[in-house]
Amino acid sequence: MARALVQPVTDDVDPDAESHELRFRFDTGRPCLDLVVTVGERWQRSFERLRSPGDLGRWLVRGGLADGPIHITRRDLADARDLREATFRIARAAIDGRPAPQADVRTVNGWAARPDLAPRFERLGRGVRRDGGATVGAALATLARDAVDLFGGPLAGRVRECAAVDCSGLFLDTSRARRRRWCSMATCGNREKVAAYRRRRAGTPNRPSLGRTPHAPIASPRS
Ligand SMILES: [Zn+2]
Repeated sequence: MARALVQPVTDDVDPDAESHELRFRFDTGRPCLDLVVTVGERWQRSFERLRSPGDLGRWLVRGGLADGPIHITRRDLADARDLREATFRIARAAIDGRPAPQADVRTVNGWAARPDLAPRFERLGRGVRRDGGATVGAALATLARDAVDLFGGPLAGRVRECAAVDCSGLFLDTSRARRRRWCSMATCGNREKVAAYRRRRAGTPNRPSLGRTPHAPIASPRS
């Protein structure tokens, strides 16, 4: 099968680290999906947010998978991208109602079989951290175990893709009605609501989001 590359677009993104294109997201509902959305706009450009080992280090700290700076090699970065793309293809299969690709299942299971980070908490109800003596391998094992738990369990059918035409971010739908459409009401949901309102005002049909090009299978980028 032909495979499209995730295109690193380091010369095509806003260099401001807080720009939309480089901003990390931790609101998908699962750490393994947070990793998947380190590629932005997969429906169109598939731009890379983990452009360097340093980016991966920042992502691990922000995601609660490392206390502070840890040594990260380019090999670690390639491993993280491999796990991410395997997780993405499994998520796509789950969304489409297809069997998960076996090679990707092996990749995720392989990482999940390694020692992961020990969980700990500090204050009641204030969250679980998984850090302390972190290595990238243990962090990836933790993410892979999260993917095993998600896609092997009853929530596999609740992984969704944002319905906004310019987003395609993945998220876990934990709504009671199981009909959540947007990755975030604060961004995509609001934008689409405003657009629908304008269409009604203009008397144009209130159609759903425009169709997108179907996702091409995505392979790991060059590291
Ligand atoms: Zn969205």
